[in-house]
Amino acid sequence: MAGSKYQYVKNFELPDPLLPGTFMVYRLDGHSFHRFSDEHEFSKPNDLRALRLMDHAAQKLMEEYPDIVLGFGESDEYSFLLRKSTSLYNRRQSKIVSTLTSYFTSCYVLYWPTFFPDSPLRYPPSFDGRVVLYPGEKEIRDYFAWRQADTHINNLYNTTFWALVQQGGETTTQAHATLRGTISKEKNEILFSRFQINYNDIDPRYRKGSVVVRTEVPEEEAPDETEQQKKKAKKKAKPRTRIDVIHCDIIKDQFWNERRILEE
Ligand code: ATP
Ligand code: ATP
Ligand code: MG
Ligand code: MG
Ligand code: MG
Repeated sequence: MAGSKYQYVKNFELPDPLLPGTFMVYRLDGHSFHRFSDEHEFSKPNDLRALRLMDHAAQKLMEEYPDIVLGFGESDEYSFLLRKSTSLYNRRQSKIVSTLTSYFTSCYVLYWPTFFPDSPLRYPPSFDGRVVLYPGEKEIRDYFAWRQADTHINNLYNTTFWALVQQGGETTTQAHATLRGTISKEKNEILFSRFQINYNDIDPRYRKGSVVVRTEVPEEEAPDETEQQKKKAKKKAKPRTRIDVIHCDIIKDQFWNERRILEE
């Protein structure tokens, strides 16, 4: 209680609350992962181990923070939607951003050896993090559509670029030149006519990114329970949720209509 004469400095810390009743999107992105992926010899265009590690860290984050209702990941980034009414850390911005970023980064490092058993970490990876507030459901739908459209644009470019290099024998400079100014249709055409690759046959993981959702799991009933015990258990038990990574479209209505993500 007894404040020292120095304690006044605490008052220089300004509150940084996030507006109540708005949707929070928290996004993190690997810092200088162009270099990190080079130094750790990620395969191109998509290193499956690296994507699985990102997905795993995202699942761990969602296990730790029940207020995260949706995750979306591609490349070295992940976005997370918090439920509108969350009071996580009293909605203090720095507290939320720094703690979530730190937790995700620790998981990334902790589980690195599981996903890269033959390739030790050469230096500590870091991620930047931010929270953006959105007023309504439309903006949230458009936010996730923006990220998934980005996944598609990048993946189509990278797939074509690396086909030109790895199978077409072009240098990276030549491949950049070949693709300069091309539209999607032309990239699809290059893939199909020169490399017999039908873009739509590529693993949806790469085309759609990773969508992390909570699914309610019905509680198993104990076989020798009386009706009354069952009723009581049902009342008491919170529905258990499982955290799944799927690779589906989140731009059209179906994904959102099938789930209650934007409620609460
Ligand atoms: P910044 O610090 O500004 O984010 P950055 O180098 O991380 O810079 P990004 O735009 O985030 O730039 O791009 C990340 C890069 O990391 C990609 O361009 C790609 O080269 C590489 N990368 C990330 N994940 C993978 C993966 N799973 N497989 C292959 N390459 C990857
Ligand atoms: P920062 O230094 O703040 O991270 P950034 O340019 O990396 O700046 P991000 O907010 O991290 O911007 O953007 C994420 C991704 O969105 C980028 O990797 C890029 O693909 C895309 N992007 C960035 N700025 C724009 C923009 N103005 N319009 C459309 N897409 C953008
Ligand atoms: Mg960035
Ligand atoms: Mg990055
Ligand atoms: Mg990135």
